[in-house]
Amino acid sequence: MDRHHSSGQVRKAMQQHGLRFQKSLGQNFLTDTSILEKIISAAELDSDCCVLEIGPGAGALTCELAKKASKVAAVEIDTKLIPLLSENTAEFDNVTIINADILKLDLKRLFLEEFDGKPVKVVANLPYYITTPIIMKLLEEKPGLSGIVIMIQKEVAERLSAKPGTKQYGAITLAVNYYAHPSLVCLVPPDAFVPAPKVWSAVLKLDILEKPPVSVVNEKHFFHLIRAAFGQRRKTFLNSAGNYPALGTCKEDIKKVLNKFGISENIRGESLDLVQFAQFSNELLQLSLYK
Ligand code: SAM
Repeated sequence: MDRHHSSGQVRKAMQQHGLRFQKSLGQNFLTDTSILEKIISAAELDSDCCVLEIGPGAGALTCELAKKASKVAAVEIDTKLIPLLSENTAEFDNVTIINADILKLDLKRLFLEEFDGKPVKVVANLPYYITTPIIMKLLEEKPGLSGIVIMIQKEVAERLSAKPGTKQYGAITLAVNYYAHPSLVCLVPPDAFVPAPKVWSAVLKLDILEKPPVSVVNEKHFFHLIRAAFGQRRKTFLNSAGNYPALGTCKEDIKKVLNKFGISENIRGESLDLVQFAQFSNELLQLSLYK
């Protein structure tokens, strides 16, 4: 691991290009080479691998990915960073830099154009202000991913493995565990970055599941039910789901379902697990069919 990475060098290179770190874009660049090594090792890359990097910044991770993978597409939103990024990755002919907002890209199309539709690994130090929308986009669009290794805030990583009834447990916990198996690679202190963020970070691996761990009749309805339950998490599940128009369900039906499974009508959505959300969604749909 090499020359571009010390914090002094990154600051100097930014200055030479007349650049400032954009806090609003989550620009905290990784300078700790031991963490870069851990990310690369967790990604288990070989010379056949296609990699999407989200937010390459000055290119520290991009260069390491390019050494191991067949091809790297790096999507960076900040137009001003592109000349520095191009300079730092110039020695690699297997890197394509795409100046775009990841949230606005059609991933299936991108993968077809850049990787001929082959399976793709996402390896990234994510911009923290949009961690959840990026994770949800990767999982929901199902563009053909063979793995995900991402650096995110420690608090968000904790939410992904949180247990029902805890403060950290939320809609993102359920969504991620529906599509993937999350595991912690390592924790990362603020001083691994320049500038140092206020929070600790975590490198997380998401192994995409071949099929979800629960059987769901209608995924759209299932996710609406989850959103309803966590949109107003201090309310009972009965009230929050019963007053959520997109679900098209009534309180009477919700009561029937709760009774059927022997669950109290006072339960809050935050106490329900993945299996229960799947059961409730399937049952509610069944009831609405017979109206
Ligand atoms: N990969 C670099 C590293 O590890 O040093 C930089 C990581 S930094 C935490 C996040 C990067 O994401 C920044 O370069 C930022 O400009 C970029 N970014 C922010 N929002 C983005 C978006 N919507 N689409 C693509 N890139 C984005």
